[in-house]
Amino acid sequence: KLYNLVQDLKGNIRVYCRVRPFMPGQPTSLSTVENIEEGTITIRVPSKYGKEGHKPFMFNKVFGPSATQEEVFSDMQPLVRSVLDGYNVCIFAYGQTGSGKTFTMSGPKELTEESLGVNYRALADLFLLSDQRKDTTSYEISVQMLEIYNEQVRDLLATDGQTKRYPFDLALLNNSHNGINVPEANLVPVSSTADVIQLMDVGQMNRAVSSTAMNDRSSRSHSCVTVHVQGRDLTSGAILHGSMHLVDLAGSERVDKSEVTGDRLKEAQHINKSLSALGDVISSLSQKNAHVPYRNSKLTQLLQDSLGGSAKTLMFVHVSPEAETVGETISTLKFAERVG
Ligand code: ADP
Ligand code: MG
Repeated sequence: KLYNLVQDLKGNIRVYCRVRPFMPGQPTSLSTVENIEEGTITIRVPSKYGKEGHKPFMFNKVFGPSATQEEVFSDMQPLVRSVLDGYNVCIFAYGQTGSGKTFTMSGPKELTEESLGVNYRALADLFLLSDQRKDTTSYEISVQMLEIYNEQVRDLLATDGQTKRYPFDLALLNNSHNGINVPEANLVPVSSTADVIQLMDVGQMNRAVSSTAMNDRSSRSHSCVTVHVQGRDLTSGAILHGSMHLVDLAGSERVDKSEVTGDRLKEAQHINKSLSALGDVISSLSQKNAHVPYRNSKLTQLLQDSLGGSAKTLMFVHVSPEAETVGETISTLKFAERVG
């Protein structure tokens, strides 16, 4: 009860920030980050980016470079758990390429139990909690995994026999049925962490098919793991639906338009358009505007049911500590301030 009250007072949109540690072997003396305290991160701003000095940015929570995956998850656990009560939840990882979005959501390349990201922990936690409630409620949990690349929606869970489905642009329904608005994409029931690991592997393989080492497309597309929950009250028979979208966004870095052409330019324009559309939707929700511009991108259309109303949103921005990237860091933090 008290928790719900606190949630209501704070509203349904929160913004977190996480700072990646320096890479092993890198000199650590020149960090952009001057200080992290409670919900405030203070950045050293060089004169090139406005008034030279120290600029604080405030968030609901700031995680420093030494924060563990477990600490990060435990903070968002109540949000995740509310899905089993029928809430719709969106968690976004935002930031420039290399800032740690995929680390937060999935984990590093070589996964260990400690390094598992939010996606795995969230599902494991839903299994745990649904088991604790099994005497009163029977839950079914299933997963879709989509990618949005150049404003086209693709099914990351297309299997061998369906490989042709992967490059297809799937249709989005305007009116979702039980929270499902991409009916053509595979919807796979899961009941254990082993199931989830297997699924994530399929998704990652589909994503890798279209990239080479030099051309990592994953940084230029949005990936969205959607968890659909159906709960049936064993006494009354009442059914509830909840969903959770775990979104690893395309890199937010601005591309110098004088330096890219062709496909790269098109990709950059699509990313730009969809990230600003997302920012516009969240900021108009947080300002409680009457008109919310969902129609401006595939991403916001896909998530329309889960942004606004009683839905809960967590924008999790990521920044790199290196001084060279301070320009991107400042624009990331400004984006985050605008939506909060
Ligand atoms: P992004 O998805 O934003 O492009 P990544 O998640 O791939 O960034 O992170 C870039 C590199 O930094 C990866 O090698 C990743 O494992 C590492 N990394 C990111 N965040 C952390 C962290 N909090 N702790 C340790 N290593 C991290
Ligand atoms: Mg990534």
